[in-house]
Amino acid sequence: MAAKTWSGVPVEKLQDWRRAYSNFSSEYFVHAPCPICGGMGLRRYYYFVGKRLRIELCGNLYQGKGGFWAWCTLCRSYLHSEALVPEDWMHTFTDFDHYHLTPVPDVIDEKINEIVGRSNCD
Ligand SMILES: [Zn+2]
Repeated sequence: MAAKTWSGVPVEKLQDWRRAYSNFSSEYFVHAPCPICGGMGLRRYYYFVGKRLRIELCGNLYQGKGGFWAWCTLCRSYLHSEALVPEDWMHTFTDFDHYHLTPVPDVIDEKINEIVGRSNCD
């Protein structure tokens, strides 16, 4: 199975993409179809950096600023930006150096696939 190459979210899909991610959540999995391929492959990942703050915005709590990756594991569209990290985000991986991560979420996606694979019994 040849893996698709990663590509940035096209400008004309940005609005739909942001809408898909608009539900506040601290989970990897986004419960909305991908605006690009229509599949249920959207994922998110935060990496908290810097000073711990307690920010309240629109009724949601955040621990401070960090890196944010949003991507579709099926069509490999992605977006990387700075974002506020939810207060209860606890999913930061400890087995790789986050300073070596690039905007492309390949390493993170592989890691999540490992976890998903482990929890499935087939
Ligand atoms: Zn997709």
